Amino acid sequence: MNCLKCGCNKFFNQQVRFRPEVKEQVVEVILQSKVCENCKTPLVDAQQMNILRRAAADKYRELNQLLTSSQIIDYRENLGMSQAAFARYLSVGEASIKRWETYYIQDASQDEHIRIKCDEACAETNFLDVYWKRHKEDAFSGNRKFNLQIFKNVALYLVKQTRESIIYLNKLHFYTDFLHFKKYGTSITGARYTPLKYGPCPDQYRTIYSSFVNRRYLKENENHSYEVLIAPDLTIFDDCEQETLQYVCDLAISKGVKELYNLSHEEKGYVNTAECAFIDYKFAEDLLITKI
Ligand SMILES: [Zn+2]
Repeated sequence: MNCLKCGCNKFFNQQVRFRPEVKEQVVEVILQSKVCENCKTPLVDAQQMNILRRAAADKYRELNQLLTSSQIIDYRENLGMSQAAFARYLSVGEASIKRWETYYIQDASQDEHIRIKCDEACAETNFLDVYWKRHKEDAFSGNRKFNLQIFKNVALYLVKQTRESIIYLNKLHFYTDFLHFKKYGTSITGARYTPLKYGPCPDQYRTIYSSFVNRRYLKENENHSYEVLIAPDLTIFDDCEQETLQYVCDLAISKGVKELYNLSHEEKGYVNTAECAFIDYKFAEDLLITKI
């Protein structure tokens, strides 16, 4: 084995930064490589090339919110399937599985298909998405159809501003939607709220938030507070909606989330709605939060 550049046959091991281009995007990966002692050129043999291709593909997937090769392997192994069985399960050729588990990047629709077939939270979100699409807006959704994209960006906005845990974020969701309804006659997200022990909560919030974590929009810390991994897209909101969001975040910061949490338990909509039922947005008229 000789250096391709200078012919020297002595090498040492070093962490080397590579900048390969993947689908017209330059990615950076650092890999352990053999480096020529004489001219310091990394030796990229066939084996090293395979490692580099997979690492570069995974970096690209990470940057584009796609499943990495090892996440795909994990999904398959969690289902206890061989590559052949997994291929049948996903209705694709076995060669696709072999490639996805290494360097070949699945496209966005394949990525979604894999998640829906392998991840309970994604399957459930998908079910809910269909469910919501089939249900008309009404008094319990604040005269607006539920929109997961908007809900996601409200969640990102609230998390970015407050870095709170779900127990408090749920109240901030409730107040943004109900306050907006009071002022403009529609909610922002179309979410339905149900009175649980810990106060008013968006319908299916657990499933929704766990899918945000799975998709790496959010990260949940050990103390259960959340952090954003991507920035909220503010272009999705009009000026009035942004104003409502900012108003609720400012209140949460100036009054403290605990005070909003306590207040949410006294709201007429919370007190007067049976467990498991949805809170009618008509109760927005009587919101106590506007009086603090
Ligand atoms: Zn050399």
